[in-house]
Amino acid sequence: MGTEVVVVGAGFAGLSVARALRRSVASVTLVDRNIYSTFQPLLYQVATGGLNPGDVSYPIRGFARKHRSRYRHGTVTTIDTERRHVVLADGTTLPWDYLVLATGATVNHFGVPGAAEHSLSLYTRTDAISLRDRLMSLLEQRASGARSGDVTMVVVGGGATGVEVAGTLAELRSTALAVAFPEIPPEHVHVVLVEQAPVLLGPFHESSQAYSLRALRARGVDVRLGATIEAVEDGAVRLAGGERLPADLTVWAAGVRVPEGVSASGLPQGRGGRILVDPDLRVQGHERIFAVGDVALTDPPVAQLANPALQAGAHAGDQIRALLEGRPTEPFRYRDLGTMATIGRRAAVVELPRAVRLTGTLAWLAWLALHIVRLLGNRNRVSTLVNLAWRYLAWPGGSGVIVGDVPDPPRRDGEP
Ligand SMILES: Cc1cc2nc3c(=O)[nH]c(=O)nc-3n(C[C@H](O)[C@H](O)[C@H](O)COP(=O)(O)OP(=O)(O)OC[C@H]3O[C@@H](n4cnc5c(N)ncnc54)[C@H](O)[C@@H]3O)c2cc1C
Repeated sequence: MGTEVVVVGAGFAGLSVARALRRSVASVTLVDRNIYSTFQPLLYQVATGGLNPGDVSYPIRGFARKHRSRYRHGTVTTIDTERRHVVLADGTTLPWDYLVLATGATVNHFGVPGAAEHSLSLYTRTDAISLRDRLMSLLEQRASGARSGDVTMVVVGGGATGVEVAGTLAELRSTALAVAFPEIPPEHVHVVLVEQAPVLLGPFHESSQAYSLRALRARGVDVRLGATIEAVEDGAVRLAGGERLPADLTVWAAGVRVPEGVSASGLPQGRGGRILVDPDLRVQGHERIFAVGDVALTDPPVAQLANPALQAGAHAGDQIRALLEGRPTEPFRYRDLGTMATIGRRAAVVELPRAVRLTGTLAWLAWLALHIVRLLGNRNRVSTLVNLAWRYLAWPGGSGVIVGDVPDPPRRDGEP
């Protein structure tokens, strides 16, 4: 039997491992709990009705076939490092000679009371659909008269995701509401962004931070900096100091940790539960296990972003090939290609190496182009281009909103 490589997680990092191993002698199996790979950077567009869920997902089985690997649908629940196998939720055992963990990150509520019960997060396609439907329900209830008064949406966390969600919700209010929910006066819809730090977009340069704050406030977002959430309740969030903000919808976009199955694996872990790896990306103390992408913690740490995940996945694949060919492994060196975040139509920040910084329309076009190019599959690229053009070119009379579901149709008093 040949060398078996099992890659757990088919996100940016996992797919990159398979790509790097496509010409190796190893037999590669990609395992993922979903039958599709999710393009997380555009999930907020699905959540706000700008894209369809299929636009941001790509079938793993097709990818595996193209890259001479196999796909196995399943959730890994146990990693047995002694007997060298992983166990799936359905009880199946998959043996490996080399294991690559690429399970990404999930939401971290930091133990804030009520956060898990009363807020929505945005890590999976299912999360994005739930958020979109919750948003549609809320607006539908207000438009139909089942609910009166103001509608307030609170976004927790001023990182890239929080900024993107808050900016898009504010634009929905000012552009799409008049067409999609004409009964709701836009001034009755409020978007609040709460961030514990004194600035938005922590890792960015201060000029980008100031720009994003200005751009959000210009869109009418109530940005609360230096504000700590103490509890999330049904219909409200409570800040340290006692202030209670109404919150008909709370989006939790603060903090990440590793998923459950991995945190219970007994592998060495650092901050946020991330798995500690040696310079060549092998898990500390484990010769045959690699960890890559958001789940891994390198020294020095690299950001939990798509580029580092892609590069680490490729590196791990190359190291497995080296080991199979009897060559020594090499340390991983992240090549910084820059970072970006978008706030809304014609507003984004882009930071490139050598202190090149862009804001505004140019940055936004760069963001748009890169995200479309990065998507897997031509069909996804075309559909995303069309849907985003529809949203941002504001077709006359069109709302640019892809309608979601309203799980529980609102009933008014006296209605059967
Ligand atoms: C809302 C949002 C917006 C973002 N925006 C950007 C951006 O604009 N730019 C940027 O560079 N980065 C962005 N990121 C970060 C980027 O998406 C991540 O850094 C990247 O996806 C990490 O890749 P990964 O392969 O490590 O993990 P992921 O892409 O998360 O893939 C992990 C895979 O593992 C699978 N999995 C997890 N646990 C198990 C298990 N037990 N068994 C089987 N399968 C499992 C999951 O289903 C998933 O397919 C964003 C992230 C989010 C959540």
